[in-house]
Amino acid sequence: MTELEKNIIAIKRRIEVACINANRNTNSVKLLLATKTVNANKIIEAINLGETLIGENKIQEVKEKFEALKNIPYQKHFIGYLQSNKIKDILKYEVNCIQSLDRLSLAEKLHKRLTFEEKKLDVLIQVNTSFEASKFGIAPNNTIDFIKQVANFETLQIKGLMTIGLFSSDADKVRQCFKNLKALQQQIIALNLPNVSMQELSMGMSGDLEIAIEEGATIIRVGTAIFGKRIYPDSYYWNEV
Ligand SMILES: *Cc1c(COP(=O)(O)O)cnc(C)c1O
Repeated sequence: MTELEKNIIAIKRRIEVACINANRNTNSVKLLLATKTVNANKIIEAINLGETLIGENKIQEVKEKFEALKNIPYQKHFIGYLQSNKIKDILKYEVNCIQSLDRLSLAEKLHKRLTFEEKKLDVLIQVNTSFEASKFGIAPNNTIDFIKQVANFETLQIKGLMTIGLFSSDADKVRQCFKNLKALQQQIIALNLPNVSMQELSMGMSGDLEIAIEEGATIIRVGTAIFGKRIYPDSYYWNEV
């Protein structure tokens, strides 16, 4: 068995145990492989092991891996900070879902381009549930207004919410981030907004996926625990504005 296969099996086991503890069905949680810095061959190996959901942080990497992965069936999500000048590339490289929609100017530009290309795109709204810790994501208090505005763009199909939990060894503080996202989801569902689905909650990573599953995650995004440590620090991916 390869290292990759062992790691995937171990993560599946963690998901299963967390679901049992949370009284949830194991297939209510999707595993997204966070493949930043991971080369196309490794990704193909993971897809051959049955994985179907891949998330990239940078358009440059989506572009580099595009040809090699072109004829392989999988879902490509974008989970990093998206600059407006990369919108054409998002469509060109066939991204299926942007999990990091966090500002109106980006939504407007996406809508314009999608209208021009006669396409639609799934999006998740990224919420900053940890406040000061990360500069990405919309503030929880502004999220409902933002979603009402995005819902006017019929090319954007809102499927739910995404968050990066606080980086902390204090499990209660991490849990509170996920609770905040869940509470927001419930508030939005109650509003019954047209053109808004809240089925997905993308939260939880290698270090905190159990807590996220207990709090209702439907997509967990895992990198390190499957592919090993990255050579670049996360700040390289998360501080690009
Ligand atoms: C890298 C990344 C992950 C995965 O993080 P790990 O700790 O390596 O599992 C999840 N979400 C986002 C947005 C990421 O950039």
